[in-house]
Amino acid sequence: MATKYIFVTGGVTSSLGKGIISASLAKLLQARNLRVTIQKFDPYINIDPGTLNPYEHGECYVTEDGAETDLDLGHYERFLNTCTSKANNVTTGRIYRSVIDRERQGAYLGKTVQIIPHITDEIKRRMMLLGKTGNYDVVITELGGTVGDIESLPYVEAVRQLQWELPDEDNMLIHLTLVPYLNAAKELKTKPTQHSVRMLQQYGVHPDVIVCRTEHEIPADMRRKMALFCNVKPNAVIQSIDARSIYEVPLNMAKEKLDELAIEHLKLDVGEPDLTRWNAFLDRLFHPQTEVNIALVGKYVELQDAYKSILEAFIHAGAANQCKVRVTCIHSEFLNEENVEDQLGNRDAILVAPGFGERGLEGKLVAIRYARENKIPFFGICLGMQMAVLEYARNVIGLAEAASTEVRPNTPHPVINLMEDQKTTTIKGGTMRLGAYDCQIQEGSLAYRIYGKTLISERHRHRYEVNSEYRDQLNAAGLITSGKNPDTGLVEIVEIPEHPFYIAVQFHPELKSTPENPQPIFVAFVKAAMDYKARR
Ligand code: GLN
Repeated sequence: MATKYIFVTGGVTSSLGKGIISASLAKLLQARNLRVTIQKFDPYINIDPGTLNPYEHGECYVTEDGAETDLDLGHYERFLNTCTSKANNVTTGRIYRSVIDRERQGAYLGKTVQIIPHITDEIKRRMMLLGKTGNYDVVITELGGTVGDIESLPYVEAVRQLQWELPDEDNMLIHLTLVPYLNAAKELKTKPTQHSVRMLQQYGVHPDVIVCRTEHEIPADMRRKMALFCNVKPNAVIQSIDARSIYEVPLNMAKEKLDELAIEHLKLDVGEPDLTRWNAFLDRLFHPQTEVNIALVGKYVELQDAYKSILEAFIHAGAANQCKVRVTCIHSEFLNEENVEDQLGNRDAILVAPGFGERGLEGKLVAIRYARENKIPFFGICLGMQMAVLEYARNVIGLAEAASTEVRPNTPHPVINLMEDQKTTTIKGGTMRLGAYDCQIQEGSLAYRIYGKTLISERHRHRYEVNSEYRDQLNAAGLITSGKNPDTGLVEIVEIPEHPFYIAVQFHPELKSTPENPQPIFVAFVKAAMDYKARR
């Protein structure tokens, strides 16, 4: 069977959930035994989102092979329970860079290099790339941005050309729009959808399915009207109504027959879907037996998307424990000795988040000390782990001046230090220690009990590390380095055996958590929160 290509565009506004719709359709097709992958094309000029701060773009998601990517790739992995790679996220920057590099090599000698055909050819080449590996039956391509944006034009043009070049039954276009509800008029409005589809059609692109985001049921006559105006079959106008959880969206899409539309259009030969594991997860998710309140201490607390994967990992770990995890975000910038009791006193566990730079660091130290001294379950991730080591060095070992050279380059006690190979790097993009690395776990440790094995692999994104010169001192004082990189000795995990649950990790365990494979530290951490709550 030829690889089938499904394109997903968005109209009217951003944030309609194209990523979730793409991932949901992918899940439904995967459940019918198809090999599916999803890729995202982002219209900005950055080579990748690694240099964007979370205010601009939410979390930066890191793949196994060390690509810094859009957070939608996190959704793809969580829904499909499979890994993505560098090839799954393409930006305008990367497209232009390949074309310009090729121009310098002389590949276009004598020719004027232009958006059409050179940029669009490169977009098309990349759109087909994963399909050409032979590893996938279906490749879903999500186009970032909104149809009508200037920067999206080359992508829409590439899709137009592909609609001609590929046989009809090998490609399909899903357009996601918004059907707003006007409260004053008590009415759903279809006009924005009509306009956005008309715009697509002006570009010569025709949608096969319209998915309408809505807060209310869209009646059949309204769907027929949209079908008429948008030039699609009446059953190809479907609704995506607000769901209890993003993980319920695949079931909603199945009810609306989005997968059946794809199967019919793409002439896919498949059986009935098997969603047993997914449904079992949803069942646990929606039937919690208990509840815990966990503090997430970070500096981007006003942003839903900045800690996306951590919040999702809590959902997976909560379901695994049949426990509703309420996460309260605590702003580390405003946390101090005076208000820490107020802010953290009634939490069942404390997580200190990853991050960069100085803002909010002192508050993180205050939170860690509070968790350590009051024996509240504690989990530190990346910068959260580095701060845990600092807190111990300062308050237990007594190195009052201990610091990370990230913010105090001249500290007398550089307990957290720039990694050796980072010292010669001046380029900022894509140069951190990125992606999956092995970690050797000490037998008998908390980490060992959690993972149940001695060799694990987790993903990374950092420049600084625990300075090995302080390792013996830390261990002797009771902060055990229970996980390290087998090749370099870099400290990956620290813990305090004296404490009921205190673990901090240099890697980002949240990136590998999925509903069907919840991340073990998160699962154990939620369990520890439940135990702590029961003991109190
Ligand atoms: N800023 C720290 C470093 O670069 C931690 C990074 C992180 O938390 N992802 O090592």
